[in-house]
This record gives sequence, structure tokens and C-alpha cells, in this order.
Amino acid sequence: MGYPKHWKELARDIKEKADWRCQKCGRVCLRPGEKPPDNIKPRAYNLQVHHHNMIPTDNRLENLIPVCSSCHLSYHRGGRGNISVGQLSLFDISQF
Ligand SMILES: [Zn+2]
Ligand SMILES: [Zn+2]
Repeated sequence: MGYPKHWKELARDIKEKADWRCQKCGRVCLRPGEKPPDNIKPRAYNLQVHHHNMIPTDNRLENLIPVCSSCHLSYHRGGRGNISVGQLSLFDISQF
């Protein structure tokens, strides 16, 4: 089991559909290649795709939620277990 080859495209698709908006806090994130204004922290405006049921191999559309990096971390910090940033899958937090 692993990530499908088209994960990148899939994630991109989901972000496009969401208008690059975090589904939790509504923050509009930076699109690829978009330059952040000087006064913001670009990392916080990085849209990522979260697996709702925490199963990274379950890539059904209803399981995939675009969220900004800070909401993403809060999903993983709260709820089940004490997963740390380092334990997040590289794909899960892959940028753009
Ligand atoms: Zn958010
Ligand atoms: Zn996640």
C-alpha cells in the first residue's frame, strides 16, 4: 500500500476545487508560484490535503480535505494520539 502515483495531481485538483481555501478556517492560501505579501508568514498559507479518517491510503474524495498548514497540524495534534509534525507523512504535508 502506498500513495497513488497521481497523488500530486489529485491533491492539486482538490485544492483547485476548494479555491485554495482552507475548509476549516476559511483562509485563502497561496497558489503555487504566488508570492506572499511581506507581512505574512507564507508557511501558514500553505494549503495541504488532510485525510479525514487519518488513513493516508484512503484517497476517496470525501476523505480528502484541503486545510491550511496550521489547521492541518491542529487536526493531527488533537483527536487521536499525539502525532507530531515529524510523524506527518511527507506526502500529507507536501507543498503544492
Ligand atoms: Zn485553516
Ligand atoms: Zn492530515
